[in-house]
Amino acid sequence: MTFLSLKKTSLIIGLTGLLLLLSALGFEYSNPELFLSSSLILIAAGSLFYFASLYGNQLSGIKNNQVWFHALSSRGDWGWLLGLVLTGFYVAIYWFPEVLGYSQEGSSGLVQLFDPLSYLLNGKPATQWFLYGSLYTFAILLFGVKFIWKYRHNRYQIIRTLSVMFFQFGFAFMIPELLSKLNPELDYFAKDLKNMWPLNYYFLDEWHLTNLLNGGNLGMFFLIFGLALIFVISPILTYFYGKRWYCSWVCGCGALAETAGDPFRQLSSKKISVWKFERWMIHAVLVFVFITTIATVWSFLSAHPNQSFMTKEQFIIGVVVFLILIMATLFYWKRNGFDKDARYGLLSIGIIIIAILSVHLFSGKDHILFFPSYKFQQWYGFGIGAAFSGVLGVGFYPILGSRVWCRFGCPMAALLGMQQRLLSRFRITTNGGQCISCGNCSTYCEMGIDVRAYAQRGENIVRSSCVGCGVCSAVCPRGVLKLENDTMENRITDVPYPLGNKL
Ligand code: SF4
Ligand code: SF4
Repeated sequence: MTFLSLKKTSLIIGLTGLLLLLSALGFEYSNPELFLSSSLILIAAGSLFYFASLYGNQLSGIKNNQVWFHALSSRGDWGWLLGLVLTGFYVAIYWFPEVLGYSQEGSSGLVQLFDPLSYLLNGKPATQWFLYGSLYTFAILLFGVKFIWKYRHNRYQIIRTLSVMFFQFGFAFMIPELLSKLNPELDYFAKDLKNMWPLNYYFLDEWHLTNLLNGGNLGMFFLIFGLALIFVISPILTYFYGKRWYCSWVCGCGALAETAGDPFRQLSSKKISVWKFERWMIHAVLVFVFITTIATVWSFLSAHPNQSFMTKEQFIIGVVVFLILIMATLFYWKRNGFDKDARYGLLSIGIIIIAILSVHLFSGKDHILFFPSYKFQQWYGFGIGAAFSGVLGVGFYPILGSRVWCRFGCPMAALLGMQQRLLSRFRITTNGGQCISCGNCSTYCEMGIDVRAYAQRGENIVRSSCVGCGVCSAVCPRGVLKLENDTMENRITDVPYPLGNKL
């Protein structure tokens, strides 16, 4: 079989599987097990043969030839078409699940096709979310293989990709489903051990907290582990390894971006104006989720005073004291780690939040900012949780790049990024004397960081947005870039001119 025929044959096999899967939108299959397994096997086999045709007969090394000449990876017709299809899928999942066959009375179509798998794993019929979770995990596993094949010259990429595949398959998919099957009497609460607040924005919602507290030992374990993850485990890991421990090794959103989104990483904008917009945007989302969470915890404490160890007034006072302490600490020890606009931004936002909470405390009003907490939650869920993270974040991979959500919208990335910049041992060191200014690193940085500009100056890269994917280093032909965890001393180096250009 020639190279070309292997490519074509694999495409035919994969597309046959995809059409078989999509045909469930119009047909009711009497034997869904057979059709589901056949279509998934065909898609997997076609994809693996296709990857083999791409990388199987090549030496290991950097493989980004012709990305700007393919319509799919350079915002051509195929890129726009794929963007439309993905966006349409997300719109259907969030707002029109009946299009996919979901119904509370009994599903049909594509959702029903997944019933056998759903019964096997969680003992219940499939929902649109089970369909979504299954396809999401399938995509990460499949494209994870492609990514490993493509970057097999780089050990960091191989281990990191195995890690995201493991966490998605085990922690985000299998464990929650099996726990649901073993505890059918419990109301829903998130059982993905790695999905922490603020990415899991409903963790502290009234309904979720109630279900956790009524969930027996299992619920109590997830509540305590979730709080430990936010306040203890995450800060410690971020201190030692930077935010990469989460964004590039564990997180499901990062996992999809790094695997299925890899062909689109070069589409991220590197403009300074976009960088400025990014900083305001992502921190505004963090403030929004912070206020939403305070409002929902307040509601919970109002409605369930007997289920908590503190009153709602004590909670608000605690939050105000916490904010004042954090800000005082940052401004006393870390003020040089901020740019001027970041300093003013942090100060003004902190003062506004503290003022609102203080006025609220003394006015005795029932609602934070005069709105019931569920309104905040609805707005956040619709605007950020669904429209931004799903429709824009994944649907627009082929247009805006693979990390739109992580870069502009993820509150978790914002929180970890602040710590990475100010209190972490992580940095990317640059051996600037070796740099030939080819620009590979900047081109393939999915977070839009102009890595070359740092490399040319021999300056450490300590950017809050860097997710530590290491691809800049993997595609550098000169070995200039190295991801390191070292001491905090001299970590932020400010070099104003390219090496060799000192006047
Ligand atoms: S600077 Fe390098 S490690 Fe950081 S996000 Fe960009 S490509 Fe990944
Ligand atoms: S650091 Fe490496 S990839 Fe980046 S411009 Fe220099 S030689 Fe090229």
